[in-house]
Order: sequence, then C-alpha cells, then structure tokens
Amino acid sequence: MLMPSRTESWSAADAHEAPDGHRHSHGCACCGPATGGAAGHGHQHESLLRFGTAITGGLLVLNSYLAEWFFSGRIDPFAIDLSAIAGAVILGAPILWSAVKDLVRGKVYMNELVALAILASFAIQDFRTAGTVAFLMLLTIAVEQRTAIGAEASIEALIRLTPRQARRLRPGGGDEDMVDVLDLRVGDICRLRPGENFPVDGVITSGATSVNQASITGESLPVDKAVDAEVYAGTQNLTGLVDIRVTRVGRDTTLGKVRDLIVAAEGSRLPMMRMIDRYVGFYTPTVLTIAALVWFFSRDLSRVIAVLVISCPCALVIATPSAMIAALSAAARLGILIKDISHIELAARIRSVVFDKTGTLTEGVLEVVKLHPAPGIELAELLAAATAAEAHSNHPAAAALRRLAEQAGVNWSDPAEYEEVPGKGVRARSGADTLRVGRASWLGECGLRTEGVEAPPEDGEQGGMSVVYVASNERVLGWIGMRDKIRPAARAALDELRQLGVRRLCLVTGDNAAAARLVADKLGVSDVRAGCLPQEKVEFVNELKRRGEVVAVVGDGVNDAPALAAGDVGVAMGAIGSDVAVQSASVALMNNDLRRLPFLIRLSRRTQTLMNQNLSLGLLVIVGGLYLSTIGVVTPVIAALLHCVGTILIVFNSARLVRSGEELEASPPPGG
Ligand code: ADP
Ligand code: MG
Repeated sequence: MLMPSRTESWSAADAHEAPDGHRHSHGCACCGPATGGAAGHGHQHESLLRFGTAITGGLLVLNSYLAEWFFSGRIDPFAIDLSAIAGAVILGAPILWSAVKDLVRGKVYMNELVALAILASFAIQDFRTAGTVAFLMLLTIAVEQRTAIGAEASIEALIRLTPRQARRLRPGGGDEDMVDVLDLRVGDICRLRPGENFPVDGVITSGATSVNQASITGESLPVDKAVDAEVYAGTQNLTGLVDIRVTRVGRDTTLGKVRDLIVAAEGSRLPMMRMIDRYVGFYTPTVLTIAALVWFFSRDLSRVIAVLVISCPCALVIATPSAMIAALSAAARLGILIKDISHIELAARIRSVVFDKTGTLTEGVLEVVKLHPAPGIELAELLAAATAAEAHSNHPAAAALRRLAEQAGVNWSDPAEYEEVPGKGVRARSGADTLRVGRASWLGECGLRTEGVEAPPEDGEQGGMSVVYVASNERVLGWIGMRDKIRPAARAALDELRQLGVRRLCLVTGDNAAAARLVADKLGVSDVRAGCLPQEKVEFVNELKRRGEVVAVVGDGVNDAPALAAGDVGVAMGAIGSDVAVQSASVALMNNDLRRLPFLIRLSRRTQTLMNQNLSLGLLVIVGGLYLSTIGVVTPVIAALLHCVGTILIVFNSARLVRSGEELEASPPPGG
C-alpha cells in the first residue's frame, strides 16, 4: 500500500489495508475483477474506471439490440453485430483476463465459468449474448462491491470522527499551536473548543463540559464531564472549553481499538464459510462436467452457456457474509462490538444468562452506609486504614471508601506495598502495618479472627449490605457496609430476555448471600450463587455448559474476566474505559445499557433468519436455473439476469439488518 501522507491520519492509512483482506476472503470468487488482486489502495479509482467501461460496453450492446428491433432489414446486419462485438469485447476482456490470471496461478475458480460462457457465445457468433452476459456479471460485481465498500465505509466513518489537527498548549505558557494529530504525544496538553471532536483519549485538566459519546457508546444522551474525567477520541465536546492531558494516541485510543475490533470481526469466518472454502475447488469441475454432459446430449451450445452462467455462485457466496457485515455494523452503531461473527451464531441460541452482580445488574457505584468498628477502635481509624489499603484498587468498594474519606476529611497515606487478591480483597503495607481489606472468609484464611466483631445484620433495614472487613496486622478493626443501586434498565432487560425464551437467568457474585438475595428478589432471579471466587464463577459456567446449554456471561470485567472467557458468549459491560474486559469477552458493550443484551439476541436471530433466506434463494437460483437451463427453457441472457437479480435481492435483504435497533438508539435507559 501507499505510504500514508502526513495529513492522512494513522487510521485512515491502515483502514485501506485491512478491509481488503476481508474482500479477498468473502468476495465472490466468480467476479474476478472484484477480487483479482486489486491492491488495497486506489480501488475507488479502479472501480470508477470499471464503471465507465461497463457503461460504454453496455450502451454498445444495447445499441445493437435497439438497432435490431427498429431497423432490422433496413441496415446491414453486420453493422448491428459490430456494435455488439465492440461491446462484448470491452465488457468481456476484463473477465477473460482474470480467468487467464487465475488459470496461470493454478486456481480453478468461477472466472473460468463466465469466461467460457463468453467464449462460447462468440463461437456461435451470438455477440449480443456475450455482451449481455458480461454486462450483467460486471453489474453483479458492482453490487457486491457495494457491500464490501459499505463495510469499509462504516470504518471510514469512524476515522472521520477524529480531527487531523489539534490545538496543543506550550508547556509553561498559555500559547496554543495547531499541530498534526500524529505529532501529539502522551502527556501533551490540548485545548478543545465547544463543538470540536476529541482527537485523542485524555483526561480533563481544566474546565467542564458535556460530551456526546454516541460514536462509541451508541448513546446519544450527553455525559457531563469535569476535571479528572476521561474523554475519548472521536467523541464530541459539546458545551465547554476544556484542556485535556493526552493519555492515548492513535491506535491505542478506545476508538482505535473499536476500529481494530470491527476490522478483525469482518475478517473472521463462520465454520460453514470455512467448509465452503474447502469444497470450492470441486465446484467448478462439477459444473464443467454438467456443462459437458449437456453439450453431449443436446448439442446445443446455448444451453451450455446458460448452464455456465447460472452456476456462477455469486449469490451463494455473499449470502452469509453480507448479512453478517450488516449485523456487525448495526450492532457497532449501538456500541455493541462483536469480536467474531461466529458469536452472532451463538448469541441466537443463548438459553442461559449468568449475570455478575456488582457493576452489571447494579450500577457498581457503592455507597458506604455503615461503619462498624471493633470495640476500642475509632470510626476514623477504621476508615483511614481501609482507604489506605484500597488506595490503588479499581474495585467499586475502593472508590466508595475514597469518596467517603474525602468527604469526612479523613487523611490516609498511600501504601508502600500493595497486592490485590481477585475476588477476595487487598493487602497493603502502610508504615510498619500490614493492612487487609476484604471478605470475612479471606481474612479467616489469613489467620485472622473476625468473631470478636459483631457480624453485620442479615435481614431488616440494614440487611443485604455488601460488607468488607478491615484488619491491621493481626487485629480486625471492624467492617464497612456498602450499598449499590440496581440499574434502572435491569428489570426490563431481564423481562425481555425471558420473553425471548432465555430459560435460565442466574446471578453469580462474590458478594455475601444477603446482598445477592436482595438484588435477585427485586429482579425476580431465582438462581443465585453468592460468595463465589472468580474460579467458582468459571466452574458454575462450565457446569451449565456441560448440560449442553448455550451460556452467556455478563460482567463488568472486575474479578469476572475468567468467567467472561468461559461463557459461550461473554459480554463485558461498560467496556469504554477498561481493557481487561474487552480482552476476555466476545462481545464488548461500550455502554451500560442492559437492554442491549436482548437486542443482541434478537439481532442474532434475525441475522440467522436472513442468512437462511439468502442461502435458500441462492440455492434456488442455481439449482432451479440449472435445471431450466439444461432443458433449454432459460436462455443465457435470462440466466445472467437471474444471477444478477438473485445477487441484488440478497444484498438488499441483508441491508435490512443495518437499520435494526434504531428504536434503542432513540431512547435513553429509563431513569438513566
Ligand atoms: P462481584 O462478584 O459482586 O463482582 P467481586 O468478585 O468483585 O464481587 O468481590 C467479591 C467480594 O470480595 C467482595 O464483596 C468483597 O468482599 C471482596 N473483595 C474483592 N476485591 C476487593 C477489594 N479490592 N476490596 C475490598 N473487598 C474486595
Ligand atoms: Mg464484579
């Protein structure tokens, strides 16, 4: 590919590369000019040229038909033929050329079928048929290419979201320089005016604004952001003047990763597609054998031509990929990133959904509701110890403690050593003390006794709190109770899942039983596992899978990444800021709207239906057309028309998917 020019942003440059790979793998094999080695760059120019040629050739052939109809007998038949010959040559040459190239490379592909049909038409001096067949084949290529280009367009639209220039502040002074986005480095400070798109990922260092993050999350409701809030490349700064410190540039930005994921997904293959790849080598010889038999029994070259034309499997070849790509882009628009198209197949068959609790069914924003120190311990002492231990943790409990400590004016010092035991708690060294914060059972494992402290209440007003115990050295300082809010959309999402025939909804959490039951009861979930370690979550998922069910696991990626990876489909919520979740999940939700989950299942099922329709239509055209061609009912021109119309119908059928989910785009989550 060409070297990207300086003004071309990083992503625009690579974008030309990857989708081409996808065209090679999915593109219709018969349509040589479309797939035959067109390099990544310049394909747009090339397709324009091809378009011009096709139109010229088409007009010449049309002219020959018109002349025949209106002036036959009055002008020399050779003149009429001449127009058709010129048209057929112009139109047929690229097809013949690709066929020759394929033959030289030892590939027996469909190009040969079309090339043979055209040559045979020349042989029987039916130039108009040759021209028409070639024209319709080229038309089919153009239609097919639109789907490939459509996929590319969705990626290029993403790239256009990042401006090419940014306003960088000089260190020290307040002066601004306009610089190329490619020159921005992590740590630079940029200034953004209202209405501008963020060029990179960053953290706000001064100012406040509201941001439209729809390009990434699919949620059009603006999000308010102030100092220390993260902003993402490609999202739009709506109202305020803000300075940001650059944290990620180029491909490392969230948008860059989104783009990479989409490209990778479009390049992925379904098992069925791989099977077709394997048998494609037998296809052409089989068709040639049929054609030879038809010739042997009928001695009618016109039937042979029709057989060759109708057998060209364009429609079949694009039946599945076109639907898949449409589904991928519909999902991406709603902030649902599907990593591999095989996950679409699986999602249609989900029968069980395992939910993590904290941050998934609940908002994951904990609030401290009770501090319970052991006898002889001050409230502030308990809080300071807990906050110090959690100073470096990403766990929701840590954030709650920090917030409260700041509000209460309690000072804590950052720990010297720090270790997090996933699903259990944290251990830190502060001064001479070893601090531990986590679940009671873990402190027990560490040889600490929690019995000396009165246990948190299980029922009543105070029941159902999430509880962490705090210890300093050998001494348990007390426990801290926290509460979380159930996500507003959770109830509706779960109801919708039930309506879709998801039989088993489970709640699996590391939290205590009382807290788990509180949430489960409110949402009507009967299957609850509390106090699970990350490994136990995995085992639970595997157990469900052993029963032969397709299991989806939904989590936020905090302590549940292994479970996400274990599910047939792993859905990571709120993936916009976190890397871990995206790595282990098969589907990344860039937002926190649980209703995306039933949507995903519906979309997958629709995709499956459309794929089946497409395949049936493709098969019908080929098998039916083959039969009718063999008995001489379908002429070569009709065969080419059938082939073309079949392919177009399939492309349009798939395109219907692109619009699905528009209702979700319009409505914000209730109460959110
Ligand atoms: P969930 O399954 O609800 O997401 P986690 O697996 O994250 O829960 O944590 C399970 C339990 O382990 C928590 O309820 C808490 O008691 C304890 N825990 C895990 N990590 C931490 C931490 N960083 N700080 C305090 N407690 C923790
Ligand atoms: Mg969790």
